[in-house]
This record gives sequence, structure tokens and C-alpha cells, in this order.
Amino acid sequence: MIKTDTLIIGAGPVGIFCVHQLGIIGLKCEVVDNLDKIGGQCIELYPDKPIYDIPAVPECTGEELTNNLIEQIKPFKTKFHLNERVQEIKKLDNKWFVKTNKGTEFEVFSIIIAAGVGSFEPRKFSAKDIEKFEGKKLLYSIKDKKIFKDKTVSIFGGGDSALDWAIELSNSSKVILVHRRDDFRGAQTSIDKVNELKKQNKIEIYTKYQLESISGAEDIKCINIKHDDKSTKNIKTDYVLGFFGLIMQLGPISDWGLNLDKKKIPVNTESFETNQKGVFAIGDICTYPGKLKLILSGFHEGALAARGCFKYAKPDKKYRFEFTTSSKTVKERLGIKK
Ligand SMILES: Cc1cc2nc3c(=O)[nH]c(=O)nc-3n(C[C@H](O)[C@H](O)[C@H](O)COP(=O)(O)OP(=O)(O)OC[C@H]3O[C@@H](n4cnc5c(N)ncnc54)[C@H](O)[C@@H]3O)c2cc1C
Repeated sequence: MIKTDTLIIGAGPVGIFCVHQLGIIGLKCEVVDNLDKIGGQCIELYPDKPIYDIPAVPECTGEELTNNLIEQIKPFKTKFHLNERVQEIKKLDNKWFVKTNKGTEFEVFSIIIAAGVGSFEPRKFSAKDIEKFEGKKLLYSIKDKKIFKDKTVSIFGGGDSALDWAIELSNSSKVILVHRRDDFRGAQTSIDKVNELKKQNKIEIYTKYQLESISGAEDIKCINIKHDDKSTKNIKTDYVLGFFGLIMQLGPISDWGLNLDKKKIPVNTESFETNQKGVFAIGDICTYPGKLKLILSGFHEGALAARGCFKYAKPDKKYRFEFTTSSKTVKERLGIKK
């Protein structure tokens, strides 16, 4: 059981900045995100696109913004739990108990939901009875490419992720690339490279095929793929990888007893608290009259929610407003010696 002051659900730009706002007022927090990296929509949907409306930053990409936000919270040494989805929140006395899908448990005074449009989830295969292989031999993301060394890997998908991994893994594995269409939609350089590797017999390519079934007990023995013309092919393989993009789902948040309005969480604009005491919502997931789905609005919401958390973590203390320029305590918290 991890005990801390506040748990932030969502490591998008708004969740990251909120770590800073909690940190400077002396509250500790940890962050959980379903994705394998920090940055939310900025990193997942538009890492290379320039943003022009971050105050005092005339232009920065989604990735640059994320990196700067991460740099800004370094003094707080905050733990991020990636690849984990918050599944359950429960109140007991004056504490909230939180559980993720990986079984990590937290005991906190307050929760800040910065979950954007919900959790990003991989779009999955539609073939039946293949769940038992999921997470072991059937994967939708790669954490450690070493497991594929000298194995046969069947990669499904026609976009950049499928092509990039096919190219990368062809160095050390037997790669079979399967796509339901005739043409790939990734970067032309990657398409050219894959075709070149095919000519060199380093990659096998099957187009207009989809996964029909997987055979095996614990390990995968072989897969059956079906062509548009209904003919099928049996392929011996060790791993199956699916890269079909991500979908966003509100997911478990709808079961937490929170008021919802069109998949958004209504909040008061004084502290961004929800209908549940000690549970706050900020960023794209929250709604109130005049809400703008902008990063800059999320930063403001995080600043107020952090102050709202103070009374739950330190009921005997009074929150004192201080400027970062002049507060000795804040500077100490930021590790500034001047
Ligand atoms: C193409 C594009 C361009 C944009 N351009 C701009 C722009 O120029 N200026 C601007 O201000 N805004 C822009 N936006 C909008 C901006 O990206 C969003 O307003 C911002 O990302 C919201 O941040 P957030 O932290 O609230 O949510 P998100 O960035 O959506 O992050 C939420 C995170 O929460 C995680 N999560 C959700 N549920 C759970 C759960 N149960 N457990 C664990 N993790 C969970 C998700 O995986 C996700 O990583 C743009 C958006 C897009 C798509």
C-alpha cells in the first residue's frame, strides 16, 4: 500500500503541472497513467506538432512541452506508475483507497482526476478466444524487444508502428507482416524499407489478410489468417503483435459514483472538486460553464485543485498564499539555494 497525500490520475500536461502545484505548497503525490509514457495527448497524438498558445512560450511541440513540464517537476522526485489504469476508488473514513488494474494500491487524502478524454487503450483484434494469450504472447505494445530475439513474430497493422517494429525486429527475429489492406499508410521511407527487406527475404508480407484464430495452450503454436477471398493460411509463430492505433475510453471512471455530464465530470470552479469530497477533476475531463479545452485552462484548474487538496492532507494547518519569487519555503521545496 503506497501512502501519499494525493494521487493524480493521468500524466497528460495538466496532470504533470499539477504535480508542481502540489509540490510548491508542500504536498506529496504520485501519478498513474495507462500509457507507457508521460505526456497524454501531447505525446501520443501530436508530439511533433507546434503549439502556439502556451503562455510565454511562442512555439513548442507537444514533445517539447512535455519535456519542459517534466523538467519543472524534477525537484519533487515524483513517482509515475505507467502502463497502469486506475480501476477502483473507495472512501473509508477520511482516506481514499485506490487500486490499479495491475494491483497497485494507494491510500491518499485526495484524488485529482486529470484523465483527459479517458484512458488511451489499444484497438484490439476482433478474433474470438484469444484473450488468454494477451500480455504474454499477444501484445499491443512492446516494453522489451529482447524477448523476440531469434523468435518468429507476426506483426499486424498497416501504419507507422507496425512498419517501424517490422523493420526493427527484422534484425534479430523472423518477421511476418500482415495487413488487411493492399497498401500501407505509414511514412513512405518505412514502406520502401519494408519492401526492400521483403526482397531480401528478411520480412514476409501478407496483405488483404486478417487474423482468424490463434492455436496453442500457454504458448502460441500457430495463427490462422484469412484473405479477403476467404482462403486461409496457417503460419507457425511465437508472438503476435497488433498495432491498430489507440481508442480513448472513459473506462472505469464511470463507476466511481461521480456525477457525469456527457462523459465529463462537473466541478465547482472554486476548487475543481467533484460531487465526491476529496475528489477533484481538472483538464479536458472536467466541465463547468465556460470550460475551454485548452492546456492553459488545465494549468489554472490544477493550481486551484492543489490548494483544494491542502485541507484534506493537513487539516490542522492553514494554507498560506505565497509567490514563488519571494517565498523562502517554496524555494527550499524547489531546491533553489539563492
Ligand atoms: C491534434 C491536437 C492538437 C491540439 N492542440 C492544442 C493547442 O494548440 N493548444 C492547446 O491548449 N490544446 C491543444 N490540444 C488539446 C490538448 O492536448 C488537451 O487539452 C490536453 O492534452 C488536455 O490535457 P489533460 O492532461 O487534461 O489530458 P490528456 O492529455 O488527455 O491526458 C490524460 C491522460 O490520462 C490518462 N488516463 C485516463 N484515464 C485513466 C485511468 N483510469 N487510469 C490511468 N490513466 C488514465 C490517459 O492515458 C492520458 O495519458 C490539442 C489536441 C489535439 C488532439
